[in-house]
Amino acid sequence: MLDPQFIERNKQQLLEERQRLLEDIMVQKQTLKGEVDVDVEEADPDIIEREKSATLIEALESKLADVEHALKMIEAGQYGICERCGAEIPQERLEVKPEATLCIRCQAEVERLLRRGQNPQRGRWHFPVA
Ligand SMILES: [Zn+2]
Repeated sequence: MLDPQFIERNKQQLLEERQRLLEDIMVQKQTLKGEVDVDVEEADPDIIEREKSATLIEALESKLADVEHALKMIEAGQYGICERCGAEIPQERLEVKPEATLCIRCQAEVERLLRRGQNPQRGRWHFPVA
């Protein structure tokens, strides 16, 4: 079992991370919106920048979803337990990656499925969180 103090520390880290991500997303979205006002007749030299912004927003939002999910797991008292196989996630892993809700083995499996273009149906193995 994880030390409650350790969980509390990770919770604080996750809350800070969430704040940072929300701010980053806001900035990127403003950049994206601000650059859209380009005359369509003209060649748009910023198109690559905009695409970069859009990709970045996607990555940030995906990370934000992980962080928020980990916070829900903490609230539900399920933090530190792999959502897929129920194994305990080692504390060292959570120190490096506080938003982790899968053990290393399941994480690797999910990434393998995603690389193959398969949906690992993440929602299916989530513990019911109120
Ligand atoms: Zn697992």
